[in-house]
Amino acid sequence: MRRVSVFGATGSIGQQTLDLVSRAPESYDVVALTGGRNIARLAADARRLDAEIAVTADAALLGDLRAALRGSGVEASAGAAALEEAATRPADWVMSAIVGAAGLAPGLKALEQGAALALANKESLVTAGPLLMETAKRHGAQVLPVDSEHSAIFQALVGEDMAAVEKVIITASGGAFRDWPLEKLAEASVAEASAHPNWDMGQRITIDSASMFNKALELIETHEYFGVSPDMIEVLVHPQSYIHALVGFRDGALMAHLGAPDMRHAIGYALHYPERAELPVERLDLARVGQLDFASPDPARYPALELAHEVMRRGGLSGAVFNAAKDAALDAFIAGQIGFTQMADVVAEVMNRLLPDDGLINATMNLDNVARAGQVSETEARASISRRN
Ligand code: NDP
Repeated sequence: MRRVSVFGATGSIGQQTLDLVSRAPESYDVVALTGGRNIARLAADARRLDAEIAVTADAALLGDLRAALRGSGVEASAGAAALEEAATRPADWVMSAIVGAAGLAPGLKALEQGAALALANKESLVTAGPLLMETAKRHGAQVLPVDSEHSAIFQALVGEDMAAVEKVIITASGGAFRDWPLEKLAEASVAEASAHPNWDMGQRITIDSASMFNKALELIETHEYFGVSPDMIEVLVHPQSYIHALVGFRDGALMAHLGAPDMRHAIGYALHYPERAELPVERLDLARVGQLDFASPDPARYPALELAHEVMRRGGLSGAVFNAAKDAALDAFIAGQIGFTQMADVVAEVMNRLLPDDGLINATMNLDNVARAGQVSETEARASISRRN
């Protein structure tokens, strides 16, 4: 029996993970399931899968969760600290499918106890990629990519030498507004942005696909996870979403990963890694598909991509600033406070304000000055103590 935990179990990725786990209940011992506000779903799944503990991120909902779990024998807990505690419970495999930067802390705890971390929560890599990868290394734990593009790259690299990689290409459907006239984009509504042409996903990531902020996060994710330099990573618009990513090698070969747009493929690959298990996903019939189309992304339509390149160039904490600004802009769009195209303007503005061109140099010089001043006063203090003695 493999001990598994699912963080963000009530969401789109979480539910698809539970779908796979439920198909072979004899193989899994469910440790922790976590959710946010959807207490009914969290409690029903925790009962059905006989989880050890169910955790809601919302401390105010602990009473509701307890009531929903009464008599089940499943422990109930709530709040950010409870999420981290649940991640310290021994598990062989942990799905990180919380949305947003809130996924980072439980993911780090899971790695610290040596669990394999199936990473859907791309924000962990965007906000703190070096910390996450370093933590995994230090504890001998593995991070398994679940984003379909990164799972595809991971699979294309099996048995390959990274030194032979020339470029990595992640594909993008182009989102809901791929074929809209540019001048109409400013008027796009939340409902229109929430309808993805190919993938069935949570609302936030669907809107992020329309703006390509999702692809921007994935560019940074590629850079952080695989350690490839920004100039080796490209985005290719591929409306059918059958090719998820391609890896180009120095001998001119391009390895592509193809599959139906169904996240259970990438989740299942991570769940069974390094084996390939049978999965309940549609098989691609290329003769029926007939044609695959490709185009370069239009920078005017998708300004988020250039912002991602800026983040990769700057490094440091710029990913955290970018992600938080993107989330705030998305909140404002969903709330009807700003228009669709203003999201990129808001993010660019926040980045310019918090990360001025000379910001890192200034910050470095400040720290340098502070450290030197601290050292001098400490040396002086010691000298005066020894004089006094
Ligand atoms: P959903 O919005 O469908 O689900 C998010 C999950 O996180 C839910 O369980 C939600 O709880 C929980 N949650 C929300 N806020 C918090 C918080 N502050 N603290 C703890 N838990 C919280 O998202 P998705 O499943 O679509 O996406 C999850 C992650 O996977 C994201 O990082 C996304 O970018 C990534 N991803 C998603 C893909 C997809 O196809 N959906 C594809 C590739 C990557 P509740 O619903 O109960 O409030």
